[in-house]
Amino acid sequence: NDDKILEARVMPYAEDQFMLVVRDVTHIKSIENMRKNFVANVSHELRTPLTVLKGYLEMLEDELPPPARWKKMQQVMLEQTMRMDSLVDQLLTLSRIEVATDIDRNRIVDVPRMLLMLQHEAKALSGSLRHEIVFQVDPELKIYGDEDQLRSAMTNLVNNAIKYTPAGRKITVDWRRDGSQARFAVTDEGEGIALEHLGRLTDRFYRVDKARSRQTGGSGLGLAIVKHALSHHDSMLNVDSTPGKGSTFSFRIPEILVVKN
Ligand code: ADP
Repeated sequence: NDDKILEARVMPYAEDQFMLVVRDVTHIKSIENMRKNFVANVSHELRTPLTVLKGYLEMLEDELPPPARWKKMQQVMLEQTMRMDSLVDQLLTLSRIEVATDIDRNRIVDVPRMLLMLQHEAKALSGSLRHEIVFQVDPELKIYGDEDQLRSAMTNLVNNAIKYTPAGRKITVDWRRDGSQARFAVTDEGEGIALEHLGRLTDRFYRVDKARSRQTGGSGLGLAIVKHALSHHDSMLNVDSTPGKGSTFSFRIPEILVVKN
């Protein structure tokens, strides 16, 4: 089979005799490749803000610019530092969620309380953009799960809606029962996503418009975090989107994880 990677080793067997041990290392190699790619991506992503910071710091050292230029440089350095900070944060969150095995099904997560906090954060993040953010939350609906992971998933989806929706437009966050299941959905009136990108959105570092999401401070890790957090809750991310109109990102929590009232 051409797709297989085999590793052969000669080992002593008996006096004057050797044996050839052949091992199928296809799976190991593919994991290794994935890890190498990941490290390459991480290094690349961290290098951009570092290069900018280094450049400005060197300029500050070499010349005595007028105060107006200092201000601009300081601003850019602060922006880049914050970008790197959030990138490292996201990386740590992703690796923590990825290595987590299964969720503790004995813990009840008070999702409505969590969403109340998220509502304040969303307002702050939208700031002067003044999106109309509507939270429709069933106050009785709690589930079994991992609070940190669910918060990461929900925060990322709401933050994305804010990042990719023009000022003043509407964003709806919905948490309700759906038959015996629970459903979380974030609907925005943002730029939407073309069909060809939908399948790759949850890949690490995947961004539809690299230049634009760099401006918005995107790392391309948010939806990878969402995917992993949801898989630990037997759930999957669902995306409905119409370019130019908006998107709905949603997931269902299965009946077994919904707390009976
Ligand atoms: P990022 O940190 O770049 O936002 P994500 O993994 O969270 O990374 O999202 C991946 C890409 O999916 C984004 O770069 C953006 O192009 C697209 N995307 C995510 N959410 C939305 C949304 N609500 N509307 C339009 N595009 C979105």
